[in-house]
Amino acid sequence: MTGQNAEWKLFKFLKVLLFSVIFLITVLFLVATVKTFTFDADAGLLLGKWENTTAISLHLSPQQRKNQLAHFKAAIQIPTVSFTETNVNTSALREFDALLRKVFPKVFSSSVVQHEMVGSYSHLLTVSGSEADLEPYMLLAHIDVVPADEADGWDAPPFSAQEINGFIYGRGTIDNKQSVMGILQALEYLLERGYTPRRSFYIGLGHDEEVNGLHGAVNIVKLLKSRGVKLQYVLDEGLAVLDGVISGLDGPAALIGISEKGQATVKLSVSSAPGHSSMPPRESSIGILASAVKRLEENPMPRLFGYGPERGMFEHLAHKFGLPLKFIMSNLWLFSPLLSRVLERKPDTNAFVRTTTAVTMFNSGVKVLELVESTVSDERVKVELVNGFDPLPISSYDEQAFGFQIIKKTVQSMFPQLTVAPGVCVGNTDSRHYKDITQDIYRFAPSWFKPGDPQRFHGVNERISIQNYEEIVQFYFQLIQNNDIRKLPPPHSSQHEL
Ligand SMILES: [Zn+2]
Repeated sequence: MTGQNAEWKLFKFLKVLLFSVIFLITVLFLVATVKTFTFDADAGLLLGKWENTTAISLHLSPQQRKNQLAHFKAAIQIPTVSFTETNVNTSALREFDALLRKVFPKVFSSSVVQHEMVGSYSHLLTVSGSEADLEPYMLLAHIDVVPADEADGWDAPPFSAQEINGFIYGRGTIDNKQSVMGILQALEYLLERGYTPRRSFYIGLGHDEEVNGLHGAVNIVKLLKSRGVKLQYVLDEGLAVLDGVISGLDGPAALIGISEKGQATVKLSVSSAPGHSSMPPRESSIGILASAVKRLEENPMPRLFGYGPERGMFEHLAHKFGLPLKFIMSNLWLFSPLLSRVLERKPDTNAFVRTTTAVTMFNSGVKVLELVESTVSDERVKVELVNGFDPLPISSYDEQAFGFQIIKKTVQSMFPQLTVAPGVCVGNTDSRHYKDITQDIYRFAPSWFKPGDPQRFHGVNERISIQNYEEIVQFYFQLIQNNDIRKLPPPHSSQHEL
């Protein structure tokens, strides 16, 4: 008789197994002032005089603002949910497509905009600039959302777009229909005002980002590659404006994602040895597996905060922290263990610290497997890497980094009180598929997060303030025009590094 053969497979997507890293924070590599920072005139800006390309301003009548909000609400009300890579809500996606065509008539009829559907439901827009020698850039956003269940405790049904105290509630309000609608609304306004870009650009709207973008983003990139397109930079969702979310940091900061973590899916399995059913093994396979998982949960990835690239960034941001913290930040070589303990006490920052595993130390799946194996430390448990990818390369953010400086300038002209700094994105986005056609990928939208807001991502009560949505439209409206400069101004001569 054949022995008992039981095999339990467990796919576990463990945050603690991610092979790379974090840290939200960042570098402030310019800066002239230490304690206070006012960006009057050029103070605080590293670059000299900018060519003025923002001739068109955005003045909206109360009726236009009402319409703009109505378009956004309509977008939230369509449940474009991605369940799995092969199960997305196709009828909602079709409805969404119809909505876009209805509310943005100029975008879909202008002679400077070419529109294509890719992978059936994703959109690629090519906006032709008047100066063909300027390298194009690309704006990304995604149409799909993760599932949402009202029973989880929403204050308003997740696809209602209900307005409560100046906020619109609904799945997709910050991830990522604010960008989909914000980008197209901005372009619609520009076209209405007779705008033709100097620099060409693309807009990519994926329909399956939440389930890896294998039909949307992947096919858009394939198409662009087949046309020989190279991009100056890509701007996608990712980081945001964090206000009071980072312990000890004075004032709000706009963090522009310059990289994102890698990811690993690991399979654990146990095959019990053949034996007599009358003599069951002392430990069942499921028991062995359960304790392996327990060990993994009890031993998260080591805290490596302060040992990776985030160290230099934190050191640069040090002057933005109050005194004791400032001292600690400036001396990470000594204090990083202490600092990470301080940050992990707050749920908002814990995720960033805890999943930190410096890029340089865990840059391959092999290392992840070794770590999981040694944590499980039971040779009856087989550990296999199912799939995964390495952390993304770090995009440039110096004074010559075109995309970074354009985004930064746009943010600072709208929000002079913000510190702008690079950061690393904890989540993955469609933009990772673009790494072969551009050197620089940035992940940012000026969504404003206060304490507790990061949990709304993929969580309950996802929402955006009406004012913030208007700011997002304004941001893309300015950003598109800011891209029309031929090149960045030279570094400011009277500037000195901190
Ligand atoms: Zn997203």
